[in-house]
Amino acid sequence: MPSIFTKIITGEIPCYKIAEDADNFAFLDINPNAQGHTLCVPKKEVDKILDMDEAAYMKLMAFSRKVGRAIEAAIPCKRVGMSVIGLEVPHVHVHLIPLQSMQNATFQHKVSMTPEEFENTASKIRKHLK
Ligand code: 5GP
Repeated sequence: MPSIFTKIITGEIPCYKIAEDADNFAFLDINPNAQGHTLCVPKKEVDKILDMDEAAYMKLMAFSRKVGRAIEAAIPCKRVGMSVIGLEVPHVHVHLIPLQSMQNATFQHKVSMTPEEFENTASKIRKHLK
């Protein structure tokens, strides 16, 4: 059965899309730690990041770097944190989180955003992608 992230990538489930290339897909996390919290996901389903083959892992990291730099340019923050957890969804994803403080990195404090705020945030980040 396809993962929830595969369903997002194929368009079966909607998302606030940020970017896509041949191997990877980025969209806003629906329950963000901070405005701009984004997930970068390889199109090929693998559960654990350390099980990815090296080439796919390097491509995911390069893609995440590109998306992370756009987030840093678009969203006021001290820096963008990168985190890989995967305890909820067994399909590799890199969390990119705009950080103001350690609180944004804990996954225990969430921000609520309206659909309009999600769309505006995604649009701002997309504008900084080259
Ligand atoms: P983890 O597996 O790293 O613990 O967390 C999974 C992340 O995926 C969570 O931050 C959660 O909010 C996010 N997430 C789970 N389901 C969906 C979904 O349907 N859409 C989006 N955009 N994010 C999701």
